[in-house]
Formats: sequence, C-alpha cells, structure tokens
Amino acid sequence: MSGISVRGAAKVYAGRHGETVALEGVDLELPEHSMTALIGASGCGKSTLLRLLGDLEQPTAGGVLVGGRPPHELRRQGRIGVAFQDAALLPWQSVRKNIALSVRASGRKVDWAEVDHLVRLVGLEGFADARPGQLSGGMRQRVSIARALAVRPQLLLLDEPFGALDELLRTQMNIELQRIWLEQRSTTVIVTHSVGEAVFLADRVVIMGARPGRVVDVVDVPFPRPRD
Ligand code: ADP
Ligand code: ADP
Repeated sequence: MSGISVRGAAKVYAGRHGETVALEGVDLELPEHSMTALIGASGCGKSTLLRLLGDLEQPTAGGVLVGGRPPHELRRQGRIGVAFQDAALLPWQSVRKNIALSVRASGRKVDWAEVDHLVRLVGLEGFADARPGQLSGGMRQRVSIARALAVRPQLLLLDEPFGALDELLRTQMNIELQRIWLEQRSTTVIVTHSVGEAVFLADRVVIMGARPGRVVDVVDVPFPRPRD
C-alpha cells in the first residue's frame, strides 16, 4: 500500500531574511505503483515536495499520506528509497559497503550477490571496492541510486538523479530505471529538469511553477508508450 495522497500541503521556510513560501496548497493523488515526474522552474518547490513525501521535512500545513498512513511509518520501516543530488555516501566505505549499509538499514540481512547485482545494474562493475572519493560525480550518483534500490523501496524518491551524467549514460540509466520500475513497481517520484526524461519515464507528469509552490497541471502520459 503506497499510493500517495497530498492534501493542502504547504511549506514555509523561516529564514533570517524573512519567510520563503516553498509550497502552497498542493493537492495530489498518485496511485500505487505509478511513476510520476515533477517538473518546473528552479525554485518552484519540487525538492521540497519530494522531501515531504519522504518524511525528510514536515509540512507547515496540510499533510501527506502514503498508503493511508503518515510517511514517517514507512520511513521507520526503511522502505523509502531516496537518491538526492548530493549523494551522501560514506566516504571511507567502498561502493559495495555503501550499498550493503542501506540493505541493513531496511532491516534485512545483506545478500552480497544482490549487492553485486545492483553494482552491475548501475554500470559500476570494476568499481565495487572503490571509495566514493575515487569516483566521478556521475558514478557517485549511480551508487546512490543503487543504494536507494537496495532497500526494495515501496516508495522511491529521486531528485535529479542523473544530473551529473553525460547524455549517453543518462539515456542508459533512464532505460535501466524504467526496466527496474517495470520489475519492482515501487511507487516512484522523480524530480527532473528534462521534459524528455519526464515523458520517457513517467506515466504522470506534475508541472509546478507559474506561481512558486503551486501545481499548475497534471498530465497523464499514455503507457505503454507508442513506439515508432
Ligand atoms: P526546486 O526543487 O523546484 O528548485 P526547492 O523545493 O528546492 O525548489 O525550493 C523552493 C523554495 O524554497 C526556493 O525559494 C528555495 O530557495 C527555498 N528553500 C528550499 N529549501 C530551503 C531551506 N532549507 N531553507 C530555506 N529556504 C529553502
Ligand atoms: P561525470 O560525467 O560526472 O564525470 P561519468 O559517470 O560520466 O561522470 O564518468 C566519468 C568517467 O568515468 C567517464 O569518462 C568514464 O570513462 C569513467 N567511467 C564511468 N563509469 C564507468 C564504468 N562503469 N566503467 C568504466 N569507466 C567508467
């Protein structure tokens, strides 16, 4: 049970120079097993919305339910996979260990074959024993995606996960992510700057902006997509 229901969600950040309204009265229904892309201009509240879904931030008004329950419960069970831009990897641990720690955090025993499978999935075979500091930004991003998938998430939250990848790798990762999603069907929400990526990946595109903090439109993308 991991359909998402957002009701009247608002988020105001209080800063030294006054308040920033990051979200204002957001209502959204995202079905279980769906893949949603959040797009919109920089600063319109995409990351904030994603953080509310993952219980990494609390709304100032309104609320979020995942499978009818506060996301806090799902997070406590370790069933929310997150991959954000600043891939907070443990610098002194290898790629494999970083992924394995994530498995443990979700309360399961580490299956090293599964860890190595994830390493291959994100194209990092040969780098399993490397430390994050030895990897490029794009490679670190891929470790953080592997780590997010390692928890077998009911809810998968990705914030610009492919931002540091070159075009070819980005396309490869898009195809991989879609394949993984078709296999695991985690309810997935991805923030992206790329409309092309949004339409390729998602069955629903949520457009934010116009006024900051607002959902402007929700567009359903036909799935499976017509191919030429
Ligand atoms: P997006 O992901 O669409 O770029 P964000 O959710 O990151 O948008 O930010 C929305 C607004 O909230 C922006 O004006 C941003 O500066 C502000 N904001 C985001 N996080 C914080 C924070 N931790 N403290 C203060 N303001 C923030
Ligand atoms: P970024 O674009 O952020 O620097 P990339 O992930 O595109 O990071 O990788 C940068 C370099 O690392 C590439 O030029 C490539 O040669 C090397 N590299 C990345 N992934 C692999 C891999 N799976 N196997 C071998 N080399 C890789």
